[in-house]
Amino acid sequence: MGELARTFNSMVEELSRTEELRRNLVADVAHELRTPVTNLRGYIEGISDGVIPPNAATLASMQGEVMLQTRLIEDLQDLALAESGQMQLKIQPCDLEELARSAANAVQPQAQAKGTKVAVETSEALAVNADPERISQVLRNLLVNAVNYTPSGSQVTVRTLQRNGHAEVHVADNGPGIPPEDLPHIFDRFYRVDKSRSRSTGGTGLGLTIARSLVEAHGGSIEARSKKGKGAEFVVTLPRSRAASDAGPEN
Ligand code: ADP
Repeated sequence: MGELARTFNSMVEELSRTEELRRNLVADVAHELRTPVTNLRGYIEGISDGVIPPNAATLASMQGEVMLQTRLIEDLQDLALAESGQMQLKIQPCDLEELARSAANAVQPQAQAKGTKVAVETSEALAVNADPERISQVLRNLLVNAVNYTPSGSQVTVRTLQRNGHAEVHVADNGPGIPPEDLPHIFDRFYRVDKSRSRSTGGTGLGLTIARSLVEAHGGSIEARSKKGKGAEFVVTLPRSRAASDAGPEN
């Protein structure tokens, strides 16, 4: 009977925790969606009252708010799919170096505009079992963050390597890094180290949450490392593929 009571109690605890998480999520989403809508309403009312000029600059600002809202909705959709395990992954053997290079190419315009260098370092051919589109999305996300959260002229490096029979991608930068007190929360929904700055760069605070869900859906893991003033490093670990294209030694 004692055993049964304990099991029952822990079940009740678990249920109330789930319910609290759900309530928090709904409140967070409502809060995040409210901001761009409120800003947009401000513009519309300002234009109607004649206090904001209806010119190209105003329209550009309004478009920025709509784009942030669109990104939020898309990110939430991705997150819901990934977390419920309903995302259809097209798992296949992929060349990790190719994924790293194409993600680095994709962020090149943004990096160049900031005078930031993005380098790709690979030592051996590594094949992973992954959905190439989704892993590219993860790498692009880490690279965009590395470019966005470092001062202009910084250096970003993508490195692929194998360790303990797994494949790893390291995305490292030489920016300000992530404070130790923030590091444990960096993958939480809507978590931003510097709220105002992230807002101005249009971040949704969901990028790393989605990245983690996607990597975990592949049976992999993601980790953030940072030493004060020494930049941030994100390590994505993925299962290797035993495909013929993988020339690396097995261990
Ligand atoms: P966001 O949309 O705000 O970029 P993310 O989930 O991608 O959301 O990142 C969460 C927060 O982690 C960011 O707001 C930023 O404060 C911090 N962060 C992410 N990558 C880096 C990095 N390379 N260097 C410093 N801080 C970072």
